[in-house]
Amino acid sequence: MTKEQIKELAYSLGADLCGIASIERFLEAPKGYHPLDVFPQCKSVISFACRFPVGALKCNTSAVYTRIRNSLTPKLDAIALDLCIRLEQEDILAVPIPTNESEWDGSTNRWRSIISQKHAAQAAGLGTIGRHSLLITPEFGSMVWLGAVLVDVELEPDSLKEPVCTNCNLCVEACPVNALEKPEINQGACWDYAFGEDKEKQDWRISCHKCRDICPYNLGSKNNLLERR
Ligand code: SF4
Ligand code: SF4
Repeated sequence: MTKEQIKELAYSLGADLCGIASIERFLEAPKGYHPLDVFPQCKSVISFACRFPVGALKCNTSAVYTRIRNSLTPKLDAIALDLCIRLEQEDILAVPIPTNESEWDGSTNRWRSIISQKHAAQAAGLGTIGRHSLLITPEFGSMVWLGAVLVDVELEPDSLKEPVCTNCNLCVEACPVNALEKPEINQGACWDYAFGEDKEKQDWRISCHKCRDICPYNLGSKNNLLERR
């Protein structure tokens, strides 16, 4: 299969963006979290994204943002699974990477996905990571959720995007718990504040995305509906 055919397949399964990274682009992956640590036969990484409806940013309740995120996660996992099955039918060994599951990395005291979805997306030319540690894509800004599949065939990699983050510091200043003070996000501070039980509503919620909201690049060329309102 050509990379164009693989991308068309990903789009037909529901992805809005798709790109290819060669294995050589993961030199800086943390020990134990390189694609080859997961799948020693890996030669290329397929990264894809689904858009996140931006109306959620205008709602007065965190219920909507939380529900969209909780619905996008299984959607991306289903795309990854279907893509793997279709690739296997074409004699390509393929491995789905969970979209939202993480494990404790005792060597760095962080929760990590077995492969960083954001770094895979950056390596596949979908966008670039901003100071707020989110991926910014030209088409949908940071309003995307990500999935990935590892494959045992060499595919032509896509061009990398130029960084757009200007280090304006707006996201750093907007964070209520100073989680973005250092170049690497203070994951514990962010997660403790942003995720968890809403005591009043007695429901699990994502109650903060201020760093995403304030970034001038949170919307893209195909997702600028809010700017027109
Ligand atoms: S989601 Fe909220 S708590 Fe987490 S880094 Fe962004 S602004 Fe800070
Ligand atoms: S708000 Fe500014 S510093 Fe933060 S990610 Fe966006 S452009 Fe970069």
